[in-house]
Amino acid sequence: MILHIHGDLNPYYAQTLCLIYFPGSKFGEDEVEADGVPIVDIFVEDRADGIYSRAVIRVGEKRAEADCFVPFSELFPRDRVRKMASGHAVTLAAKDFFGYISPWGLLTGVRPAKVAAQYLESGYGVMKTRKLLTGEYFLNPKKAYLATSVAQTELKLTRGKGDDLCSVYISIPFCPTRCAYCSFISASHRMLKILDDYLALLVEDVKSTFALIRDLGKTVASVYIGGGTPTTLDAQGLETLLAAVAESTDVTALEEFTLEAGRPDTITAEKLEIARRYGVTRISVNPQTLSDEVLGNIGRRHTAADFYRAYEIAAASGIKDINTDLIVGLPGDDFKTFSHTLDEIVALDPSNITVHTFCFKRAADMSKKQGTAFVPDVQSAAKCIQYSQLTLPGAQYKPYYMYRQKNAVGNLENVGYAKPGSACMYNIYMMEEMHSIFGIGAGAVTKLVEHTGGAPRMKRIFAPKYPYEYLRDIEKLRAGDRDAGIPSYADKVHAFFRAGEQEKA
Ligand code: SF4
Repeated sequence: MILHIHGDLNPYYAQTLCLIYFPGSKFGEDEVEADGVPIVDIFVEDRADGIYSRAVIRVGEKRAEADCFVPFSELFPRDRVRKMASGHAVTLAAKDFFGYISPWGLLTGVRPAKVAAQYLESGYGVMKTRKLLTGEYFLNPKKAYLATSVAQTELKLTRGKGDDLCSVYISIPFCPTRCAYCSFISASHRMLKILDDYLALLVEDVKSTFALIRDLGKTVASVYIGGGTPTTLDAQGLETLLAAVAESTDVTALEEFTLEAGRPDTITAEKLEIARRYGVTRISVNPQTLSDEVLGNIGRRHTAADFYRAYEIAAASGIKDINTDLIVGLPGDDFKTFSHTLDEIVALDPSNITVHTFCFKRAADMSKKQGTAFVPDVQSAAKCIQYSQLTLPGAQYKPYYMYRQKNAVGNLENVGYAKPGSACMYNIYMMEEMHSIFGIGAGAVTKLVEHTGGAPRMKRIFAPKYPYEYLRDIEKLRAGDRDAGIPSYADKVHAFFRAGEQEKA
């Protein structure tokens, strides 16, 4: 599509606004005006008392435009007023053009609950926050209610917890086979031959990272072993990894220790017994759907019966919390199959249920195959999401964390629900950037966070993305090269926190 910005407006923000109504659009320099190519003009004008904006949307002969003035006020910083004015103008023009407003209004970000949390923390009550979300951000009242509920729960669960805490993420980017919809870096059967070498390096990485955390004087609140599918490791490999964690930190002092087992076809009683013995408190057993036909469509290589078998093992394992991931909007899924899946899962009574919206990502095998073009049923997905948002609170599950992804069907959200006392704290810490997360393993990202009063200071350190790159490069990257002036991982981490101390002084 063609986007023209006239005035002072962050181009990335303008693009994300356009993507709400023109999902999947590209903003190339070489786009030329032609029939069917959407053209959006956004005008932004600074005035003495506020920001004026006008948006024009054109596709061929069809055209809509709207304008808006947002005055400066104590309520919003200047930059937000600019975004709101242009957001209002684009949203109102889109309403005229398409006949609807996106349920998330002009919120473009990954974390819609963050805006609600900011208002709640600034002293706005729940009702006023919802009113601001519907009135100023054009959220549909149900989404405003959801965002505010999530923010309330997050604030309650994290009150008094500072950035002296930290969390650790350990990556096992391997799966027994690759699902057709996967766009993650996960390596499947062809790469499993390097799993032993990967594990050997990972164990060293685990030990040195926990040693660094001790040096920093931070307390590890949560450990999350994610994937891929961590239970792709055999029982012996899993024990090696968990023993390395247990040697490096007092696992009994952790607030939470998650093993995202994931695929039912990798879960055995022996592995979960080892996990429990080494202090794991939370596991995920993810069916995604209980329709065998839909599981076949997404190349998941397990059946609903496999899920029930794995769930039974998990329920008998003595591990405190079980999460089950579901996905709305999968190819071949509809309201009937989704509501059946959700009802069955609720009947099993796991402490956590996470409802994702299907994301059609370009990297997935499914979209690479010709002739399998998938046209999502947005209306049906929205109905399923709504069903989950009514059913789960009715069964004592509270929404406690939420995020959105690009290319999600219908621009819908992903929501984590938990029974009282069971929310996954790692998910909240990570999503809300509350403290540093030390990432270990291929594809992992260390995100250093320090709260200094205003916007938090942050720095990301990326581990090599693919397992074979990790094998090749991690030792060099961890050690650095003093002679060549390349800092080690520990040097970078220390430098970040030293700079924070200097700023405070
Ligand atoms: S289990 Fe998850 S990470 Fe593994 S291939 Fe399937 S979608 Fe990808």
